Amino acid sequence: MSFKSQPKGFATKSIHAGQDPEQWKSAAVIPPISLSTTFKQDAPGEHRGFEYSRSGNPTRNVLEQCLAALDNAKYGLTFSSGLGATTAVLTMLSSGDHIIMGDDVYGGTNRLIRQVAARLGISATFVDPTKLENIKAAFKPETKLVWIESPTNPLLKVADIAAISKLCHDHGKIIVAVDNTFLTSYFQRPLELGADLVCYSLTKYMNGHTDVVMGGITMNCEDLYNRLKFLQNAVGIVPSPFDCYQVNRSLKTLALRMEQHQKNAIQVAKFLESHDFVEKVLHPGLPSHPQHKLALKQTYGYSGVFSFYIKGGTLKQSSAFLKALQLFTLAESLGGYESLAELPSVMTHASVPAEDRKTLGITDGLIRLSVGLEDAEDLINDISRALDIAAKA
Ligand SMILES: *Cc1c(COP(=O)(O)O)cnc(C)c1O
Repeated sequence: MSFKSQPKGFATKSIHAGQDPEQWKSAAVIPPISLSTTFKQDAPGEHRGFEYSRSGNPTRNVLEQCLAALDNAKYGLTFSSGLGATTAVLTMLSSGDHIIMGDDVYGGTNRLIRQVAARLGISATFVDPTKLENIKAAFKPETKLVWIESPTNPLLKVADIAAISKLCHDHGKIIVAVDNTFLTSYFQRPLELGADLVCYSLTKYMNGHTDVVMGGITMNCEDLYNRLKFLQNAVGIVPSPFDCYQVNRSLKTLALRMEQHQKNAIQVAKFLESHDFVEKVLHPGLPSHPQHKLALKQTYGYSGVFSFYIKGGTLKQSSAFLKALQLFTLAESLGGYESLAELPSVMTHASVPAEDRKTLGITDGLIRLSVGLEDAEDLINDISRALDIAAKA
């Protein structure tokens, strides 16, 4: 059994889409960084496509076209952060509207919905996205948006994107948004599965070099594009041209990086699964994963981020492990070329209410890894050593 096979052409698109040298007077092969905030007009109100950098920027345009091409989408938009992209989606809604959201979404998304959207009169129901009947049961007449992550963070639950999209579209005009940060457009293309919006924290794998905070959205629907483009400018959630240049450059190696993240991570996951001091490994590419078959059916592969439960399961054991690591850096975030490890209960998911963390299984023994591009053998040796130390703690 294997993942869906990747159609040819992805790497070519990542290198060429939106990059045509003919768009520049200089015929520059690499898109210039256009820092000017304003653009000369030929007559009042007559401009050549750009007037003010918040509403449109040449370097940003290049990146947005490339992002759209990678998802086989008609449109792409970028935002000042992943949460900025989520804010744009949220501000399409109005007071009184209702959202259905996965129950273990990214901690910051959870906080935005519970602490900001709620105050603006937008309510939300959090459900386990692996159970279609839960989504169905949560529908209200005022439901406007279903937001899911697949796989989820940090529990790696895989949701059936095609089935959820069909359910929502059969039910009415409900927008289905998929946070595709963990897999990138290389491993999963939710629009092909029926979703309406694909949202990214480009900060993670898409940029992959841990030096830019940015968000993105791709879509096929012109109406959604017009509304989100309006909000990108009206709310002012735009990235800087310099950052756009960096992310555009990073996309050129996305296919290569993701292939290597996948190879390294599965080796580390298999090592952990065979280790006595590990309770359980959560990785969609392992046959032991509860939605392994679904993962194989809807994705082209799996990235470098996954979680595991350390034996004992207390803060004492997990802290001892995390402090003993030498190659893996103890830090939040994921998706860069360097390996990171973190404790969701105390770090990335501390803003999720303790009660919810408990029901979800985000315990003090749950450790999340972002396996980078170092040599897999070195990473395994590092983990092996740290587990030995934790076992004696
Ligand atoms: C990091 C992350 C976000 C938020 O993105 P920022 O760029 O940090 O604002 C959203 N979703 C997921 C899955 C993430 O990992």
